[in-house]
Amino acid sequence: MRVSYGISTEKMNGLLEELGKTYRICGPRRVGKYIRYGDIQSVEELVYQEKSHFSPKEVFYPIVQTLLYFSENQVRESEMEDEREVILFLRPCDINGIRRLDTLFLRNGGKADNFYQRRREKVKFFLLECAESFETCFCVSMGSNRTDDYEAAFRFGEEGVKAQIHGESALCGRLEGFLAGEKECAFAPEFVTENKKTVAAPDIGHRSLLPGIHDLPMWREFDDHCIGCGGCNTVCITCSCFDTTDVIYHETSRDGERRRAWSSCMLDSYSTMAGGHNVRAKAGDRMRFKVMHKIYDFKVRFGEEHMCVGCGRCDMRCPKEIHFSETVDRLAHEVERLKRGEESL
Ligand code: SF4
Ligand code: SF4
Repeated sequence: MRVSYGISTEKMNGLLEELGKTYRICGPRRVGKYIRYGDIQSVEELVYQEKSHFSPKEVFYPIVQTLLYFSENQVRESEMEDEREVILFLRPCDINGIRRLDTLFLRNGGKADNFYQRRREKVKFFLLECAESFETCFCVSMGSNRTDDYEAAFRFGEEGVKAQIHGESALCGRLEGFLAGEKECAFAPEFVTENKKTVAAPDIGHRSLLPGIHDLPMWREFDDHCIGCGGCNTVCITCSCFDTTDVIYHETSRDGERRRAWSSCMLDSYSTMAGGHNVRAKAGDRMRFKVMHKIYDFKVRFGEEHMCVGCGRCDMRCPKEIHFSETVDRLAHEVERLKRGEESL
């Protein structure tokens, strides 16, 4: 089913109110000086004209989450605080990014992460049309500018809302029921076909190039420049790393809970092992790890697209104005030099 309607903002607000009786509805909204994902009730709350600073992942992959409760003799899995299905307004790059997260949490090692899966399977996508690219986006270079994976698509504007129902699910049926009788139109979402920024991921090809990439002098420039704040990971739709901590409630008991919280491969503590040895002690080592994970390792391991979807949020976020996109471009040039047997710049 693909049927489109042109409706007023008031009608759209009525739709959100109706859906909000059974679904949790989330989208990008303003929180202080940031645009961040959370609950919305109306079109007026939804920030659709700008790119969000943070990704939608925190809706279903919380920053801190209790996994288990334990006592001396028992372990009990945590329950979900909110059992409702979630409608998530998001852009094509983020839908593609969530597919990368699904790969990491549900396919990696052949065993699904239950704590991710139980929330993720409740999420339904409402596409926010991106007819024009934002400043730091490079989704076209990463092939994540398009998607067909959504229940409905929306274009918001001063003159009202265009909506396309795009599927046969129960939610699509509910949308159809609510919008029946409204004015049908020819709306189909447009997708960005060009970004101001283009990025060429390196064509690494053979593993024999890896030692040379490991030793490139360019990584050493980050040793002093990057402050290891982890901000770039925090905003990334495809970063999935976490730490687990056991919290004991009282000194004299063994009752407690196991929590997991987002972590970051750019923190120096992240790669410190038992005994204090740090396998990536310098910021440049961590940068190398992050960049290679995003534009080489993931693809080699899972045979899909690159992990990075080119949302450009990390470039917006870095307090030291380190641009991931330019680092990838630079690496691509260095790889070509390595292939020709030339010295690095
Ligand atoms: S690495 Fe940067 S551009 Fe790529 S998906 Fe993550 S935040 Fe977006
Ligand atoms: S690259 Fe920038 S945002 Fe990322 S850890 Fe370094 S200083 Fe922080």
